[in-house]
Amino acid sequence: MPNYNAHTYFGMKVLEELPVEARRSCVEDLPVFRTALYGPDPLLFCSVKAKRRADYLHKTWREQNLSDLERSIRLGSGSVRSFAAGYLLHMLLDDAVHACVYRRMAEGSNHQRMELALDRIILDELGMDKPPHLAAQGRKRTTEAAAGFITPATENQYSIGLLRMSAVTDMIRLREKRFLAGVTRVEAKHAREMREILEETISPSAGMLAGLLE
Ligand SMILES: [Zn+2]
Repeated sequence: MPNYNAHTYFGMKVLEELPVEARRSCVEDLPVFRTALYGPDPLLFCSVKAKRRADYLHKTWREQNLSDLERSIRLGSGSVRSFAAGYLLHMLLDDAVHACVYRRMAEGSNHQRMELALDRIILDELGMDKPPHLAAQGRKRTTEAAAGFITPATENQYSIGLLRMSAVTDMIRLREKRFLAGVTRVEAKHAREMREILEETISPSAGMLAGLLE
């Protein structure tokens, strides 16, 4: 729902709010945590079939994955725990902005332009002229850790999706200004609204994660 920079920012802000021990547990494998912050989104870039599965995972994650994610965060270790923590945070942020995004799309705003405008707000706050590369280090470990949470999608679809997502975002980051030129005043306003929702979601999400890691 939000683009990758918003998800990364959100995940890192949640980490800052965690007690030291809980934070350490989440980032036992930091590259995997960072990639997991993209949730099932890499699947959107793999194929039409994988995209359908990504949509399914977004819609059904509370019923299908939440208890497994909680168990892995509590009892898992290393890459699996880091993946589960990052993946959970992706889903919490997506769910938080979901209603706003769909309402604004129904009013005529473009989903991708609102996402890019939200990313730009955050990057401006961070003083970054150009969007950073997608964090996709540790792809093999991330893919293995993802396997337990992305059924019916496969490890192979996730792995290919991550590579393609990386290529597509690299293309967009070089043309960011051109894409942003198309953002309307109303879309920019909606992006600011999403920015506020993101901020309000940080503390409750940190509370949930800290509770699991007590
Ligand atoms: Zn998503």
